[in-house]
Amino acid sequence: MGHVPNLKRIQETLEKDSRAPKLKDSFPSAPNPNNIAKPSDAEESATDTEESDVSGSEDDDTCWISWYCNLRGNEFFCEVDDDYIQDDFNLCGLSGQIPYYDYALDLILDVESSLGDSFTEEQNELVESAAEMLYGLIHVRYILTTKGLAAMLEKYKNAEFGRCPRVHCCGQPCLPVGESDIPRKGTVKIYCPRCEDIYTPRSRFQESVDGSYFGTTFPNLFLMTYGHLKPQKASQSYVPKVFGFKVHKP
Ligand SMILES: [Zn+2]
Repeated sequence: MGHVPNLKRIQETLEKDSRAPKLKDSFPSAPNPNNIAKPSDAEESATDTEESDVSGSEDDDTCWISWYCNLRGNEFFCEVDDDYIQDDFNLCGLSGQIPYYDYALDLILDVESSLGDSFTEEQNELVESAAEMLYGLIHVRYILTTKGLAAMLEKYKNAEFGRCPRVHCCGQPCLPVGESDIPRKGTVKIYCPRCEDIYTPRSRFQESVDGSYFGTTFPNLFLMTYGHLKPQKASQSYVPKVFGFKVHKP
């Protein structure tokens, strides 16, 4: 999903590599809020305009994280704080799990990377998918932190994770959950705190998101943290009837 805009970003990075040193905040299509104005803006935006037919509706002011979280199907992700990602302690153990780790991290943080000129299109695509996986594995850690839980709370309040499809749960908002903490073991599900069961998300785009990017702990820690949001357990349930009589269960 959405490879084209990102390939563009990587290619831009490759092009610029020869003339710019590795420098934070200098990625043209993704200005850091701390450093919005810079001399090369005009030149770079000219390049962007030429390529605008490729990038489609991409907003040039959007950083990678916002862009990624706004892709169709990625609605369950919250935006992880740059500060969190920049703290090596929080990324402990991830470098061994992700190919092209340094490039993937630079892409996520909109850091102008010192990518080698020899990168093929195929390698660029690998960096792109590595960045998506890295973001997912950072995300699953982040949403267990105070800030991450708060970010997910905002989404929960807006029912952005969908509602329970069970009739007697009366549209109860759900929370995302993984059935495993190991990547590629299953896709994300939604957990209903009322009937305490899990369901497949309604959107087929969401259905293909890896469950380990949300993990097995999140909804339960969320409801422990925000205990007042835990709804009363569902008391009503469906009763099978034939001609108005309850079906006798053997
Ligand atoms: Zn339910």
